[in-house]
Amino acid sequence: MRILRGLTSRLLPCGCIVGVYETYEGEVVTLLDDREPACKNPEHANGNQIPALAGLEQRDSARRSSQK
Ligand SMILES: [Zn+2]
Repeated sequence: MRILRGLTSRLLPCGCIVGVYETYEGEVVTLLDDREPACKNPEHANGNQIPALAGLEQRDSARRSSQK
């Protein structure tokens, strides 16, 4: 996976910061950018993909493609 550009970043309720990136393949992925030391979620390690937020972006693009 190669990153083309960063789209946005978000602060999660647990305090971690994630970045939303577009890849060269056109896929939008959400990666953990800055782990909050107090966060208890083992999935939230720097550089990990966060599927729940990536799903939000995919729902937007699915809606657009269904409007034919
Ligand atoms: Zn976290």
